[in-house]
Amino acid sequence: MLLQKDYKFWFCTGSQDLYGEECLQHVAEHSAIIVDRLNQSGILPFEVVLKPTLITNEVIRRTFNEANTDENCAGVIVWCHTFSPAKSWILGLQEYRKPLLHLHTQFNQEIPYDTIDMDFMNENQAAHGDREWGHMVTRMGIERKVVVGHWSDERVQKKIASWMRTAIGIIESSHVRVMRVADNMRNVAVTEGDKVEAQLKFGWEVDAYPVNEIAQSVEAVSASDVNALVDEYYEKYDILLEGREPAEFRRHVAVQAQIELGFERFLQEKNYQAIVTHFGDLGSLKQLPGLAIQRLEEKGYGFGAEGDWKVAAMVRIMKLMTAGMKDAKGTSMLEDYTYNLVPGKEGILQAHMLEICPSIADGPISIKCQPLTMGDREDPARLVFTAKEGRGIATSLVDLGNRFRLIINDVDCKKTEKPMPKLPVATNFWTPKPSLEVGAEAWIYAGGAHHTAFTYDLTAEQMGDWAAAMGIEAVFIDENTTIRQLRNELRWNSVYYR
Ligand code: MN
Repeated sequence: MLLQKDYKFWFCTGSQDLYGEECLQHVAEHSAIIVDRLNQSGILPFEVVLKPTLITNEVIRRTFNEANTDENCAGVIVWCHTFSPAKSWILGLQEYRKPLLHLHTQFNQEIPYDTIDMDFMNENQAAHGDREWGHMVTRMGIERKVVVGHWSDERVQKKIASWMRTAIGIIESSHVRVMRVADNMRNVAVTEGDKVEAQLKFGWEVDAYPVNEIAQSVEAVSASDVNALVDEYYEKYDILLEGREPAEFRRHVAVQAQIELGFERFLQEKNYQAIVTHFGDLGSLKQLPGLAIQRLEEKGYGFGAEGDWKVAAMVRIMKLMTAGMKDAKGTSMLEDYTYNLVPGKEGILQAHMLEICPSIADGPISIKCQPLTMGDREDPARLVFTAKEGRGIATSLVDLGNRFRLIINDVDCKKTEKPMPKLPVATNFWTPKPSLEVGAEAWIYAGGAHHTAFTYDLTAEQMGDWAAAMGIEAVFIDENTTIRQLRNELRWNSVYYR
């Protein structure tokens, strides 16, 4: 459900033939060693593939065009071992369309004080070769990531690893297809947006379907399939009857199992990887999809509530960026619900009517069946849990009318001081950086929405780099944020991003 392709990253070393064949041989040997060690580090989430040294316009242009057309190539890493005259790169760079990392490194870590001579100097010139190259990329206005340091340094390897996940988000963005089941909730502003512009900027396809088309797919699911899935639920989750009759409870749960299977089949058949619903427009569905959506999100589908297709696409992308991550803590749609404003204990209780992804759960997950208090359907079954502790990021992609802005807030997730036994929904609880007071003030000035795409497993830097690659503004709210600085940044950005 997540990454379908076996992504790899190409390692392209820049050089020239001015210093003779022997020098070029060393360049190739050094690059091979670096690529080998990077792959053996166990730190990179994707394989690095060594390409022949790039020394002429023709080879550079051909290599970048091959990278464009190779479906499994998710990006190119460039390093100029020696000086590589940057005009040779213009045509290749002009035609290149994938993520680009400039690894500013050199083969040796230390200056070889006793033996260094001019031959060594000519062969190991990244300090100025990479500057020549970087100048051209800047002059051409090409978005890229620069990572500086010795290639054997774990910090450098971790930066490359982190960028690789950003690159996946960039590459995969244009494959995200969001299914809108019914329209947005009436009168709500932040779930709206320009879908044509979203396709231009992010590559997303956002299509609406009448709710009863997907409801028919739900009705077509056989009773035996539903029963088997309900058995799986009862095996996996705690059942909290809370006074309900067991058979009636199970019937309610079965409705969600049928929705899960019917929705998933419909999404697969039509090739969508994200979905939105709206509690006010459910057609012939018997319950608002709750448990069903939670399960689909856990499988990797993006989700947004009340027609929020921007959140659905962002959740999907963030799940793709964290795919296969060891010790991942989870990614979900969330909503700012209510505050704790007690001094020293400030935080925002995050929840939704139902649809929080269980990937962020900490400890046991239960099924409850409770009235919704909104809409006109049966009491929906839902998964209830509390979320993990630790750092995370809350992101909100907003449409400002003439452009998009991505707001990224570092948050500290905590346990609430006391349990909330009467609250029948999954929750997270966090304090935004730098504090609730400044974080919420900054979020509101920036125009952030109440729905967020949240993850424990990515950094603000990764999402900011993703936004830069998409050509949109990113606003960071973190421990360094001050209101005066943020408001100035918003003013300046409004001039830059027209
Ligand atoms: Mn909502």
